[in-house]
Amino acid sequence: MIEVVEPATEQVIAELPRAGVEETDAAVARAKQAFEGWRAVSPPDRAALLHRLADALEEHAGELATTEARNVGKPIADARDEIEMVVHTFRYYAAAPERLLGQTIPVPGGVDMTFREPLGVVGLIVPWNFPLTIASWKVAPALAAGNTVVLKPAELTPLTALELERIALEAGLPEGVVNVLAGPGSVAGKRLVEHPDVAKIAFTGSTEVGRGIAEGSAATIKRVTLELGGKSANIVFADADLERAAASAPLAVFANAGQDCCARSRILVERSVVDRFLEALEETVDDMRVGDPLDEATQMGPLISADQREKVASFLSDDAPVAIRGTAPDGPGYWFPPTVLAPMSNSDRAAREEIFGPVACVIPFADEREAVEIANDTIYGLSGSIWTRDGAKALRTARAIETGVISINSNTSVRVSTPFGGFKQSGVGRELGPDALEHYTELKNVFYATEDG
Ligand code: NDP
Repeated sequence: MIEVVEPATEQVIAELPRAGVEETDAAVARAKQAFEGWRAVSPPDRAALLHRLADALEEHAGELATTEARNVGKPIADARDEIEMVVHTFRYYAAAPERLLGQTIPVPGGVDMTFREPLGVVGLIVPWNFPLTIASWKVAPALAAGNTVVLKPAELTPLTALELERIALEAGLPEGVVNVLAGPGSVAGKRLVEHPDVAKIAFTGSTEVGRGIAEGSAATIKRVTLELGGKSANIVFADADLERAAASAPLAVFANAGQDCCARSRILVERSVVDRFLEALEETVDDMRVGDPLDEATQMGPLISADQREKVASFLSDDAPVAIRGTAPDGPGYWFPPTVLAPMSNSDRAAREEIFGPVACVIPFADEREAVEIANDTIYGLSGSIWTRDGAKALRTARAIETGVISINSNTSVRVSTPFGGFKQSGVGRELGPDALEHYTELKNVFYATEDG
């Protein structure tokens, strides 16, 4: 059995059967059986079903948000925003079945046309930090393109994914189109990756596991998209609105208790303003409300598990330069206070590895050239920010940084309608926006002869 634990209380909130190889094979078989029927559903009918699924999710939004807040330990206000995004994601891709356009290409002797065909059964493996949100980024475009799916949530947070399976049936999606497997990655996930009837794996999680998935997929030449780790830079130039940059920097790292692949955990600050920036930063960190995820005022909850807390703590050696430390509750729960290390060098371990906890490094830089150099000196390239009032400098820097998404004078990363994904070892492929559909279809070329010869 899987014991699902609430990280804020350390209490078991659910017990579920644990899926192994047999259950994985059965889920793939159900998805395979459902595929021909689902791909044959007419585009407007498939669109209507996805809208009905979005409606049903919206009806259940309150319960889903509470479950997510309790199971992940995330603030209820954030959980509500996430479920809103889930609903929006299904609505956005509900428009896709009727817009999966091909091309006609001028050729001699006939008519040439292209089609976007579904892949078949798609395996979706998602992490524990944004369970239903990240699942929806994969499930919605996969279904819109005519695939059936087997979704494997993280063992730590399977509850909302299992609800999605139930709600999909309630909304009228045919049986077997959405299948959810609550089982360990090393067994159920691994089997999905190896299964000959799974055409593609879409994965979000650690770079290490992502490497294994790419390797395992090679045996059957599966299509693979990977959304992996990050160590993103938040670059603050001296000419920025420092108060705004400092006020928004903490939540750009500490939201979701730092367990966010887009966390701007390296704050690069132009040397001449480091002291002023740190002063303003301290005020915001001191004001952060860390506590009960179900309290409306909470901004940061606990970490997901005792293991995660131990891993995060390992980055804070006795001589770590702790410049700012917020507060966290005592007692049960995997609490960790928001922590800022300053000044740090980009070669320090805490500046190189993905901590996945509420720890930020402040790294001083001399000029634009050095800021870009430091920002790019990492194996990752997922997200990031630039704060400056100089528009030309902002755009030069944005183009020079090796990253998939970057914001200027903002710390936002993800929108339903824009592409999201990483450069370098942060991954392969893009989710969300119009581009995601490409990763759930194969391009077919058809030539129709109209002349002899
Ligand atoms: P993992 O990468 O291990 O887990 C992500 C998903 O992959 C989970 O569903 C997991 O299943 C599954 N999985 C694990 N092993 C395999 C495998 N061999 N084959 C197929 N699927 C597998 O992340 P962790 O939860 O272990 O977190 C470890 C670190 O990864 C974090 O501290 C953080 O640094 C990073 N991470 C990054 C994320 C991101 O969004 N970029 C998200 C999560 C973690 P299960 O958990 O059920 O075993």
